[in-house]
Amino acid sequence: MSILVVGSVAYDTVETPFGRAERVLGGSASFFAVAASFFVPVNLVGVVGRDFGEKQLAAFRGRGIDLEGLERMDGETFHWQGKYSYDLNSRETVCTELNVFEFFKPKIPVRYQQSEHVFLGNIDPVLQREVLDQVERPRLVACDTMNFWIEGKPGELKRTLERVDVLLINDAEARQLSGEWNIVKAARAIRALGPRTLIVKKGEHGVLMFTEDGSFAAPAYPLEEVFDPTGAGDTFAGGFVGYLASALGPTEAPPHPDDVVLRRAVVMGSTLASFCVEAFSLDRLLRLTRTEIDERYRLFKRLTHFESV
Ligand code: AMP
Repeated sequence: MSILVVGSVAYDTVETPFGRAERVLGGSASFFAVAASFFVPVNLVGVVGRDFGEKQLAAFRGRGIDLEGLERMDGETFHWQGKYSYDLNSRETVCTELNVFEFFKPKIPVRYQQSEHVFLGNIDPVLQREVLDQVERPRLVACDTMNFWIEGKPGELKRTLERVDVLLINDAEARQLSGEWNIVKAARAIRALGPRTLIVKKGEHGVLMFTEDGSFAAPAYPLEEVFDPTGAGDTFAGGFVGYLASALGPTEAPPHPDDVVLRRAVVMGSTLASFCVEAFSLDRLLRLTRTEIDERYRLFKRLTHFESV
């Protein structure tokens, strides 16, 4: 049982009202991989430049993440810089330096081609399909995307979505992709494009999941200290897909998880995301323990439970 993740591995420069972090480890694949590694073995496919440090590689290795698919190219690592306003809900991208990421052509090592679960991070939808062409019949394909691809390559994105089981996007992206303002109508339209399960992320307001059985809502875990929301969405995805992969067990399990398992996965994703935002970069996730995860998952259950059984 393993998960293949393909996406950005980055250096991030982040400014929040509480401080600034310069060129720290980031990228969608990084957050996803570390979160998912608490549940099942993770195979990472991405690209970094010559400047990518041994300390960052050691952080991945420390979580048991397989790095055979992490290519090193001549040039600099992808660099993203963001700045958050005081309420941490809105952020401005100060700069995006693609560097080696501009030339990223995912090559899936032979050892990864039988990964049962695949997470397609936010990259060109054409590349996302090329990844799927290189893997043998995965049991579950989850996918992220962003406004840039919804606007720039809508046709290609729709072709990719035909092959996706779970799509994770934010509410603005769901509206943009469907052309529907109402989120329930948007969900119906998006699920008709292919994904049986749609997760709509709403930042500090939590997530909504739409499946064939209906919908499910989970709040964000109420924290006293929110330090840096960067990567919360990818961390959610890592906890969600990681939990699903571990819960599906051996290969005879049903091809698509049932609603109860999906709901637990949403709460597990929210649990992991709540740790991510407590510190800059992957700092909190890298010193997290399984005991802490299980304890907060339990508190989550209490948070949302309102009737005695
Ligand atoms: P999130 O906060 O979940 O949107 O994820 C933030 C992460 O996405 C940061 O660590 C960035 O390095 C990465 N990122 C930002 N812009 C892009 C992009 N255009 N393509 C891929 N990854 C990006």
